[in-house]
Amino acid sequence: MATPEKGNPALIRRDSLAARPGSRQVGPHKHIEVRVRDVQRLLVLFDLDNTLVDRRGTLGDWAAEFTARHGLGDEERAYVLGMVAERAYPSSFDAIRTRYRLPMSTAALWREYCADIAASASCPAEVLDGLVELRAAGWRVGVATNGAVDIQHAKLRATGISKRVDGVFVSEEAEARKPLTRHFALAAARCGTGLGDGGWMVGDNPINDVGGGRSAGLRTIWIGNGRSWPPDDPGPDHVVPHARAAIDLLLLQSVDRMRTRA
Ligand SMILES: [Mg+2]
Repeated sequence: MATPEKGNPALIRRDSLAARPGSRQVGPHKHIEVRVRDVQRLLVLFDLDNTLVDRRGTLGDWAAEFTARHGLGDEERAYVLGMVAERAYPSSFDAIRTRYRLPMSTAALWREYCADIAASASCPAEVLDGLVELRAAGWRVGVATNGAVDIQHAKLRATGISKRVDGVFVSEEAEARKPLTRHFALAAARCGTGLGDGGWMVGDNPINDVGGGRSAGLRTIWIGNGRSWPPDDPGPDHVVPHARAAIDLLLLQSVDRMRTRA
């Protein structure tokens, strides 16, 4: 398992790559050079929550705002947060509505949640740029996420991610949740390819993203988010601290492939 933050020699700084004849610049990072015609279109799938967007940080603020808006005490914040912490569905709000006897319908509460979360979700500019750079370098870029269709697509639109990827698959569309291989196959299909040619999965969840990706025949990059890899689980191919580092690693794969073919 490679750990770039510990000085893996395979992880060359982007600005150490010299310009070469026949190459062209990609994105705002002027030292990344690729020759698109030389690169087979490899697939990379990204998880969404806590990989491309910071869901965990967004939820804390939302729970505080929700309890204040509905006249609930601060002590209820933990319950509300717990109901949506792992994953939120309309049924989560059915339970919240019943518990607090809220006058709004479950559908209205769910719509409010989707709008609130979409408005506060953000994807770092360097990650958005990185998605563009990957596609310009010849990668097929997709999003493979568990969750409800409307909230996940609301976040993808609001952050600008949906315009920068080839395809998106949300588990609710076909009741195919990660880590099922079918989830990854459907995500690959959205990107115009299959799992037969391999590819990469990038995500923060050891079971859903790394274990599931590996079972689907993909190489894996784990977004550590400051955590250590669970000691008893087979490791991913790489560990990186955040999504931009994963993108840089993949871009270097493109360069390495071209050098191999040169
Ligand atoms: Mg995640």
